[in-house]
Amino acid sequence: AKWVYFFGKDRTEGDGKNKNLLGGKGAGLAEMTSIGIPVPPGFTITTEACIEFYKNDKKYPEGLWDQAKAALATLEEAMGKKFGDIENPLLVSVRSGARVSMPGMMDTILNLGLTDETVKGLEKSSGNARFAYDSYRRFIQMFSDVVLGIPHHKFEHILSDMKKAKNVDEDTKLSPEDMKDLAAKYKDLVSRELGTPFPQDPMLQLEYAVNAVFDSWNNQRAKTYRKINKMSDDWGTAVNVQSMVFGNMGDDCGTGVAFTRDPSTGEKVFFGEYLVNAQGEDVVAGIRTPEPIARLEKDMPESFKQLEEVYQKLEKHYKDVQDIEFTIEKGVLYMLQTRTGKRTAKAAVKIAYDMFAEGLIDKKTAVLRVEPNQIDQLLHPMIDTSITYDILAKGLPASPGAAVGKAVFCAEDAEAAAVVGEAVILVRAETSPEDIGGMHAAKGILTATGGMTSHAAVVARGMGKCCVAGCGAIKIDEKAKKFSVGSKTINEGDIITINGSTGEVINGAAKLIEPELSGEFAEILNWADEFRTLGVRANADTPADARIARDFGSEGIGLCRTEHMFFDGDRIDAVREMILAENEDGRRRALKKIKPYQKEDFIGLFEAMDGLPVTVRLLDPPLHEFIPHTDEEVKRVADGSGLSVEQLKAKAVELHEFNPMLGHRGCRLGVTYPEVYEMQVYAIMEAACELKKAGKDVQPEIMIPLVGHVKELKELEEMTRAVASEVIAAAGVELEYLVGTMIELPRAALTADEVAECAEFFSFGTNDLTQTTLGLSRDDSGKFLPLYIEKGIYKEDPFVSIDESGVGQLVEMGVQKGRSTRPGLKTGICGEHGGDPASIFFCQKAGLNYVSCSPFRVPVARLAAAHAAL
Ligand code: PEP
Ligand code: MG
Repeated sequence: AKWVYFFGKDRTEGDGKNKNLLGGKGAGLAEMTSIGIPVPPGFTITTEACIEFYKNDKKYPEGLWDQAKAALATLEEAMGKKFGDIENPLLVSVRSGARVSMPGMMDTILNLGLTDETVKGLEKSSGNARFAYDSYRRFIQMFSDVVLGIPHHKFEHILSDMKKAKNVDEDTKLSPEDMKDLAAKYKDLVSRELGTPFPQDPMLQLEYAVNAVFDSWNNQRAKTYRKINKMSDDWGTAVNVQSMVFGNMGDDCGTGVAFTRDPSTGEKVFFGEYLVNAQGEDVVAGIRTPEPIARLEKDMPESFKQLEEVYQKLEKHYKDVQDIEFTIEKGVLYMLQTRTGKRTAKAAVKIAYDMFAEGLIDKKTAVLRVEPNQIDQLLHPMIDTSITYDILAKGLPASPGAAVGKAVFCAEDAEAAAVVGEAVILVRAETSPEDIGGMHAAKGILTATGGMTSHAAVVARGMGKCCVAGCGAIKIDEKAKKFSVGSKTINEGDIITINGSTGEVINGAAKLIEPELSGEFAEILNWADEFRTLGVRANADTPADARIARDFGSEGIGLCRTEHMFFDGDRIDAVREMILAENEDGRRRALKKIKPYQKEDFIGLFEAMDGLPVTVRLLDPPLHEFIPHTDEEVKRVADGSGLSVEQLKAKAVELHEFNPMLGHRGCRLGVTYPEVYEMQVYAIMEAACELKKAGKDVQPEIMIPLVGHVKELKELEEMTRAVASEVIAAAGVELEYLVGTMIELPRAALTADEVAECAEFFSFGTNDLTQTTLGLSRDDSGKFLPLYIEKGIYKEDPFVSIDESGVGQLVEMGVQKGRSTRPGLKTGICGEHGGDPASIFFCQKAGLNYVSCSPFRVPVARLAAAHAAL
């Protein structure tokens, strides 16, 4: 087998596209060499060799070492120097390089091949003693750290002692004699630490170094990095052995790193840093402070010109931003690395837009260059991460963005604060629908319990408000209005910051950066629309949310949760009266009071969505959620309803359920209290007819939630159609409307062919469908689910990213069976998954017609849908 690939001006064996085999760095070196960019020659030992090494109990596969020796001989020939030569020695660097870069995670060794003898040769051939011994002491330090396990700082102590003794602040000011002295001291340290001298056989050094790089694939930080970035442990790393070029031979030498465009803004400017008379690790290790790249133009104009030519050639070749490493040796430029530059969301958008405008990439590529997951950053205020903060605790990143404010502990306090214009963070054990006003008033929401689809999380995302949920480390004392984390206590009024993108809770005020929706961003989204086939709608309950969604490009409303309308202002009293009523007559009386409010709400919503479909879901939550809780509320409702406090409390007990999520909710309310749904249908259709008369284009879609059996739906569908026909006839207008259902229970998916006989559309309510399929409470699982994810039992939180192999089957089955009895069945998704890129990819595969998500996720969904279609 071939384990080793040579790269050099006259012969490059590796395929520069094959990152899997050569690693990212190795592929880049091969590619650069083959397009005529100056790269010091060398060879790459493949990732396959690394994989074999691990399979073979850490022994090299057969032929590897012979091939490496042969490549070394070729290298000697190309360089006109010999490895281990005491006159003019060849030195090499040994670097790791996995298929995806893992910055700083694995090991690098420079100046390999130096010994007490060869260093004299280096001195002779370069005529530069300082350089020779500077290289030697660097090599001893790096090799000892990486291969022999003697930590860096022990060497750095010696260096700083030396600098102190010589009274200089920079190591470039140390004399040749000092460098020689340093190398000797370093070797003494090694002897003391190991009990054996520093290895003096270059071939052995090379073997040790290759082993060390292979070993570093499985060091702890590399493993952790792979886990965080979801990379496989089986890829292995390649090893690049490359002849050294020296940035430390004097003031016409240097080394640096640069990006072909600014990676944080995307601006088309060459961006980077460099150090004169230095080697690469000085930049990385922060031993010396590098200069901005613009300085290079002044210091070494010729080399800068070469560098400019090279970076432009590289960008044209790769058609993307490159992150490059270079060294200048005596005025001659060499490239040591090129790879795709990592960038912020803002930069990604600008770069994609500009590169299309420059004709470098086509529109499709431009759209694919922007990561849907990343652009969330552009839609919410973000924390300035260049500053360090006092992090109190970490919860779930439930709704992105960041907020700074005073801690308050109940909704009323949040609302009161908002009235006087104060920024607050609402801190609750968990939120309930009653907190909605306070949540709206607060800048952000922090809860101690609850998962990614808990009430707080869903509502906050809907509002585009940041939220950290399920932060179990905070202990809330609601009465005393404070919370504690460990030994720290945050009282009411103390300033905290929450980061809904990371889940962090910060003590004090962090610095925020405001979002901006650039013209380029809007344009990229328009391009995305040209490619996507999935529709994108929004989950919105109010005209204001609907308008935001529309501005973000929503093509309609996929879910209006009508229960939110029940909590506003005075109507909650009428709603409570309805719930507490003894019989149907009592309920009808109360419903009459609610209906005008409902109708008004629908008018607002339909107007905001003129010309687009609006899916209105009939009442869904268990009734007890509307019951008054505090003594104060109980008394107020008692006064208003003519019931005694005792009677009211008794009613609350009666409505109590042990498992309300599986209880008296959804269409079960419609089946048992048809007058409630009837009122809602009247309100919807009357609103629609009025607007239709006024010349608006209204497209109502009435949706029945939590159906398990077609007979539930049949009953309610018939009622809905009867009411709708009556209202339409009375108004004397022509109005099209749809009646459909949500698929939120496994039984509905399993019998979707039957259900579809009564439904013109399905909307998969994957929040409940996940909860009921996995038997995992969406409100409580936050307590233990993180451990499940950590352990890899579920790869992702199934409430965030759809569980394809489980819930996904039910969705696919639902679509197929539904269309088997109703070929034109329209299908969508309105669970939180509708805004998650990975789930959107799944929806495309499953053949859904549209996704629906919170207004602030609409741009993400548009982009993800385009990626899914491409
Ligand atoms: C769902 O269950 O997925 C859904 C959208 O409904 P809700 O979140 O209101 O239960
Ligand atoms: Mg639901």
